[in-house]
Amino acid sequence: MHLVIIGNGITGVTAAQTVRRLAPAARITLVSEESEHHYSRTALMYVYMGHLRYQDVKPYEDWFWAENHLELIHATATALDAGQRQLRLSNGQTLGYDKLLLATGSVSRRFGWPGQDLRGVQGLYGLPDLAQMERDTQGISRGVVVGGGLIGVELAEMLHTRHIAATVLVRDQHYWGSVLPPEEAELVDQQFRAHDVDVRYRTELREILGDSSGRVRAIVTSQGEEIACQWVGLGIGVTPNLSLAQDSAVETDRGILVDELLQTNQPDVYAAGDCAQHRQPGAGEVAIEQLWYTGRMQGETVAHTICGRPTPYRRGVWFNSAKFFNLEYQTYGQVPARPPADVESFYWQHPTGSCALRINFAPQTGNAVLGFNAMGLRLRQAVCESWIKAKTPIQTVIQQLKTANFDPEFYRRHERAIQRQFAEMSVVKRY
Ligand SMILES: Cc1cc2nc3c(=O)[nH]c(=O)nc-3n(C[C@H](O)[C@H](O)[C@H](O)COP(=O)(O)OP(=O)(O)OC[C@H]3O[C@@H](n4cnc5c(N)ncnc54)[C@H](O)[C@@H]3O)c2cc1C
Repeated sequence: MHLVIIGNGITGVTAAQTVRRLAPAARITLVSEESEHHYSRTALMYVYMGHLRYQDVKPYEDWFWAENHLELIHATATALDAGQRQLRLSNGQTLGYDKLLLATGSVSRRFGWPGQDLRGVQGLYGLPDLAQMERDTQGISRGVVVGGGLIGVELAEMLHTRHIAATVLVRDQHYWGSVLPPEEAELVDQQFRAHDVDVRYRTELREILGDSSGRVRAIVTSQGEEIACQWVGLGIGVTPNLSLAQDSAVETDRGILVDELLQTNQPDVYAAGDCAQHRQPGAGEVAIEQLWYTGRMQGETVAHTICGRPTPYRRGVWFNSAKFFNLEYQTYGQVPARPPADVESFYWQHPTGSCALRINFAPQTGNAVLGFNAMGLRLRQAVCESWIKAKTPIQTVIQQLKTANFDPEFYRRHERAIQRQFAEMSVVKRY
């Protein structure tokens, strides 16, 4: 079998490694336009901030690929003929395959704002963006970041480490309004304030203004305010990269459409990771998952199917993690920004706002825990997942909190306070 994988991100590389393990004789070729070797996309910001060098964010030594008989082609796949099982590459090569995995990731969104093509306006997705940001933020005094999500806060932190003043425009009334409950968002806002980031809530970008050389000189907000700046970072999310699939016979919608085995509509063509859209996501799951962890899970799952062991992809208990300046965030299970009427919430916060814990539960089903948000605290994923799966009552979870404790500091300093607050509540507080 010759497996060709388009994209050497976490999804493609995980699939390649898993297939190598399951089918030692398979020929595996990884094609990627962005970089010769796989690197950790989530660590891009640390390269800009000077905490890591590019070679530090490559999880494998350069010899790893040849040693594991993984052929690498540094080129763009420009055309796919699924009928002939052939790809055309930007280096002029034609590449045949028996099985093909599309793991082409995402591209940064743009909303068609006037001035968005000026020099100094960009998103942050890959190495070319990092190089562009390095170049265009040299010697500037203010950058404006558009978007109140994960990339928005990363961009603000990146500017802060270079002593560049940052203004962040957030459409919602609080940070990451579609995901975080207001209390957690307020803790993130404290981080913004502590790092002198000027955040404008309920504010959108209307226009980007340029100077005579074609470089950004200011932005205009939805309130009509003009803010002088020399750089604009667009952190308004990503969308599946369909550049190869959309001109082929592979069926696409917002993403590349796949069934539960991550198969497309074309024989022996699969898609996984950020670029895939699930035709029928399971209950509580989403159609397009743009996360590092889910890319890894999908890569591993699809490898089994490719090797003749059909394995449906199931997301399982939701989890995610991030860091907002100095504040770590972990979430397990269901903790929506606005909970349904039958969900209750226990929320504890340290008086200084340095950490907090939210546990959601369902009174109508024996107070079964549904999800956790930990800010500035670390909880063990396996323990939280097992509590959620077993529908453990919140009383038991609070009693046994120390088994989820990842960090002895947390146990010593906060666990008793959390238990005390829970015990003192005659009626558990709704959000
Ligand atoms: C700055 C940043 C920070 C992030 N932080 C987090 C985080 O903290 N936690 C988290 O869970 N997720 C995070 N994410 C999201 C996460 O990185 C992605 O979900 C994940 O990397 C997607 O992996 P993938 O392998 O599916 O796609 P990608 O990593 O995008 O890899 C796809 C590769 O395919 C290449 N490609 C595309 N088309 C072609 C073609 N036609 N020919 C050849 N090559 C092609 C692309 O150039 C790219 O290199 C972050 C993303 C960014 C941008």
